[in-house]
Amino acid sequence: MKFEKIIGQNEIKEKLRQSFYTNRLSHSYLFYGIPGTGKLSLAIAFAQFISCENKKENDSCGECPSCKKYEKLIHPDLHFVFPVISSSGKKSISDTYISQWREIVLDDPYFSFREWMIKLGSENKQGGIFSDESSEILRKLNLKTFESDFKIMIIWLPEKMNISCANKLLKILEEPPQNTVFILVSDSREDILATIRSRTQPVKILGIDDKSLKQALIEKYNIDVERAEDIVKISNGSLLEAEEQISISEETKYNLSQFIKLMRLCYARKVDEALKWAEDISKTGREMQKSFLHYCSVLARENFVYNYQLSPINYMTREEEEFAIKFSKFVTEKNVALLSEIFNLAHFHIERNGNAKIIFTDTAFNIMKVLKN
Ligand SMILES: [Zn+2]
Repeated sequence: MKFEKIIGQNEIKEKLRQSFYTNRLSHSYLFYGIPGTGKLSLAIAFAQFISCENKKENDSCGECPSCKKYEKLIHPDLHFVFPVISSSGKKSISDTYISQWREIVLDDPYFSFREWMIKLGSENKQGGIFSDESSEILRKLNLKTFESDFKIMIIWLPEKMNISCANKLLKILEEPPQNTVFILVSDSREDILATIRSRTQPVKILGIDDKSLKQALIEKYNIDVERAEDIVKISNGSLLEAEEQISISEETKYNLSQFIKLMRLCYARKVDEALKWAEDISKTGREMQKSFLHYCSVLARENFVYNYQLSPINYMTREEEEFAIKFSKFVTEKNVALLSEIFNLAHFHIERNGNAKIIFTDTAFNIMKVLKN
């Protein structure tokens, strides 16, 4: 990974390059800051830069044999340590999961701990860096360097290290092996052993600057400038937070479109089309169905509030309000509770694995009755 692939962070990139050019490479760095700012990418790009055989002034070349191996994360002098899961029959060490690791990093190096756990098929299990890992670390440090002047060990989320592993790492950091650079990459510096922290050179990675983040969102998600600016404002310089906002608003958009469709069908009493709608939505996932029903229940109440102008504040988006201008007059004190109940009951049955097609068909028919009266 070249520096140029990383969103923003120009100051840090320059600082890292200078530490190399002025022979002030530390033997252990601690990159820390909130998730989603590119810490891991910076660590990899820095390592690639150090090893590059044909450096350009501001970046690695991307073409020398070392860079070629770095681009696939298979350089023999590059080692990774990261949280794994304990799984019977498999050794709980990073190397066991190295192919999944390469996949997720090469696919998109901005990912969260949770996404990594999902990748390992283990959303609910506790991931960690376990005792077995420490002997692996020692073994790798005892290897001679193969191709590069430096061995580089990137430890992602050292705060997930168990205490016995952390103590062994501490011993290593106290007497650092020659020509080895450790880069610890942490989302939560406070949770690392204080003795480890004090033996590393801290490098605080700030949020991505607004301009770079905005540009990245526009390119990656093809959204318009205004929307990108709105999202940047509430993302703290974190690409992960920005992506979360985008996916929330995608979900809202989908839910609103389904809500409008359902209300129109029910108001016009189009039975055949309502059956078809129920069949279609029953094919989506349960989580989506639950999100939709919850949304309907909230939006029905919002429309009621809007109809009676009960509150000067409404919590609707512009698109929701556009629909409410016409629709809200059908949500009255006579039926608002009934509507809510219909959606909540459907949610209850979906949650208990009821037949989705039947549940949504019932829902549509019940709404027809309520809207008619
Ligand atoms: Zn190179």
